[in-house]
Amino acid sequence: MSQDLTPEMKKQLAARVNYYREMGIHDFYRQHVAEGTQVMAKPPAEAVPVVAAPSSSLFETPLPVIQDKPAALNLIREDIGDCTRCRLHKGRNKLVFGVGNVNADLMFIGEGPGADEDAQGEPFVGRAGQLLNNMISAMGLKREDVYIANVVKCRPPGNRTPEKDECDVCSPFLMRQIEVIQPKVIVALGAVAAKNLLAINDSMANLRGRWYDFKGARLAVTYHPAYLLRDPRQKKETWKDLQMVMKYLGLTAPAKAQE
Ligand code: SF4
Repeated sequence: MSQDLTPEMKKQLAARVNYYREMGIHDFYRQHVAEGTQVMAKPPAEAVPVVAAPSSSLFETPLPVIQDKPAALNLIREDIGDCTRCRLHKGRNKLVFGVGNVNADLMFIGEGPGADEDAQGEPFVGRAGQLLNNMISAMGLKREDVYIANVVKCRPPGNRTPEKDECDVCSPFLMRQIEVIQPKVIVALGAVAAKNLLAINDSMANLRGRWYDFKGARLAVTYHPAYLLRDPRQKKETWKDLQMVMKYLGLTAPAKAQE
């Protein structure tokens, strides 16, 4: 493809790639390009993998510090573009990239947008989102203090579980978001998020209650707020998971948090 680029385009492309690299971004994904359109970015040599080895240190060298996180996230969003990389784009109204504090110590990751999120373009804004906000408040934090994202960025039809190939195609963007934000703790909300992030096929009972080393952060697994709406008895178990996170982050619950 590069033989089709003019010298000026090659120069622009080189400058752009350098800009990404300076921010610690080393994997690039090509947008779907209509016939006749010039290609400005090469597809990745290899996708950022879904982590396969829990309970071990996966990154022996620290991730590079990214100075301008908003710009780095903007570049990822730009790279996603008007994405058609998987079938989920067909029913999408709004792509749900992620929201929150780019310097957050704590990141929540769900499986994918629902109807409210698809309409508003923001993760966890429906009833489940309200419950997540309550969980965050119970930890002594505000929603604006944390970063929230999903494994897939487009709503699966009928709120079905995203399929493996859809997660595989979309999750490299989430991996890059994690690399930019560099949270201290990631909380995987629900089995789908946990299994995709950790590449472990296990029950929630086994996945919960322990730490995983993940991209320089600690990762914990708890129930998805949508599941808690269906089975509120599990809120107590969820609170145990959140307390584990709070202890690690040195957070103190407001007096009324414990119900
Ligand atoms: S879910 Fe991800 S990979 Fe699939 S179309 Fe949406 S942004 Fe692209």
